[in-house]
Amino acid sequence: MGFFDSVGDFFSDAYDAARGFVEEAWNILTEVWNRLFGLPDFLLCLLGFHPSKKLRLRVLILRDEHGRPLMSERDVLPAVELAKDVFRDQCGVDVLAVGGMMIRTLPGPAPAAALEVGCTWDAWREDFGAAGQYFRDNLARGGFLGYARPVTVFVVCDVRGKTGCSLGPLTDYVTVDVPGMASPTAPDGRPRTLAHEVAHACGLTHDDDPNNLMEPSGPGTALGIWQECFFRNSRHVTYL
Ligand SMILES: [Zn+2]
Repeated sequence: MGFFDSVGDFFSDAYDAARGFVEEAWNILTEVWNRLFGLPDFLLCLLGFHPSKKLRLRVLILRDEHGRPLMSERDVLPAVELAKDVFRDQCGVDVLAVGGMMIRTLPGPAPAAALEVGCTWDAWREDFGAAGQYFRDNLARGGFLGYARPVTVFVVCDVRGKTGCSLGPLTDYVTVDVPGMASPTAPDGRPRTLAHEVAHACGLTHDDDPNNLMEPSGPGTALGIWQECFFRNSRHVTYL
């Protein structure tokens, strides 16, 4: 690799990192703004007022280094259907496809950095590198000033040491690995990791109750009233 290629790579990497930083900062800003704006709705929810709201979701399946999809679109359906049922039945939130398309397989092999990802600090660091760049390039976009922004789920090969990961309000995407699409399972046998990670993206944190969706290892799918109202107060969950 020549000198000018190295310089080009350096500036390309720096640009991707800066782009990740700006997007994370923007997401935090719009999260705070939308939560404050939605405070009356949050309080009304606690009083039992919860008319139907919407959450836009896209699930993108990566391809391995040989171009083979990690899963079939049909195999992803049970996890998506569970999330739809949980959010509709417990939160009054309808999960909708973005642009009429809920599940899609991405074209071409994904970069190695996006196929095997980390969580917590690793995921945060990787958001500024090749993985974050790939995820941002393929994110479902939409909404206005963060309001009604879709959540994108990337089906990856492996989330190291876990089955899924979310950076909460920092990013509009979460990752779920292939085992996470099959296990751990909800009591009805459907995988719950996707619903768990999407709930993180909508602001929910972990809970100790094994019956709760936010208990890390499952198998629960229940949500409490505070969780329901905080979920509904997310910028991803909207009336429009
Ligand atoms: Zn979790």
